[in-house]
Amino acid sequence: MMTLISDVMNRLMGRLTCRETLELLQQHLDGELPADQTRRVAEHLDHCRLCNEESDIYEQIKQAIMTSGVADPDVIQRLERFGERVGNGEIVD
Ligand SMILES: [Zn+2]
Repeated sequence: MMTLISDVMNRLMGRLTCRETLELLQQHLDGELPADQTRRVAEHLDHCRLCNEESDIYEQIKQAIMTSGVADPDVIQRLERFGERVGNGEIVD
């Protein structure tokens, strides 16, 4: 079980798992997290390509909503699919 091992390793090193990061990501991008959480999310994003991609998708949605008031349905679908894969344990850190 790669997920379990990497989760344990992440915990030992005080790192967030992908799942924890994704749960905090939206608040992180909105600047709503306390400083220590912000640092941990930023650290995870530094070394995790998947969460970086996810972060980009969130940014795209935010930009689209700010400029046109509507998010691109394709982008939202990508985001939902990504969330499902993480929820199913298909994505390991
Ligand atoms: Zn990650």
